[in-house]
Amino acid sequence: METVPLAKYEAERKEHLKLQAKYLKIQKELEVLGFAQETIITCANCGYEFTHHYKVEVYFRHEEDASYGIKTTVSGRESNTTTGNNQLNSPSTRRDGVRIYLSCENCDKKTLIGIIQHKGQTFLTLSKGVDFDSLSPSV
Ligand SMILES: [Zn+2]
Repeated sequence: METVPLAKYEAERKEHLKLQAKYLKIQKELEVLGFAQETIITCANCGYEFTHHYKVEVYFRHEEDASYGIKTTVSGRESNTTTGNNQLNSPSTRRDGVRIYLSCENCDKKTLIGIIQHKGQTFLTLSKGVDFDSLSPSV
C-alpha cells in the first residue's frame, strides 16, 4: 500500500485556507461598497448548480392592469420588441416584470427567475417552469 505524502496535503490545505480568507475579505469589501453577496442559482427541478440563461423577457405595461404595453425578448443573438396586447405571459399579473429562462446541464427541465413588481414591492422568484412561447403564439 502506497503511503500518502502528508506534507503535500497539508500544503494544499494551507493554500485553500489562504484563498478562502482572501475570498471572504473581498466579499466584505464588496458588501461595504453596497454590493450584495453572490448566490449560485440552482436548477429548480433537480438542484444542479450548472445552469445557463438562454432567454430574457421584459414586460412593461402602459398602465396598471393594462393588457397592452412593451415586451422585449432577448434570446441567443436575437432581440425583439413589440408594443401592443402582449402582457399575457408577464410574471406580474398587474404591473411590470422580468423573466429569465434557465436551462440545466443535468436535466431537461426549465427554471424561471422572475422579477415582479406588485403593489410597490419588488419580488424575486425562482420556479420550475416551461417556456411560455412554446405554449402560446408569440405576441
Ligand atoms: Zn436540473
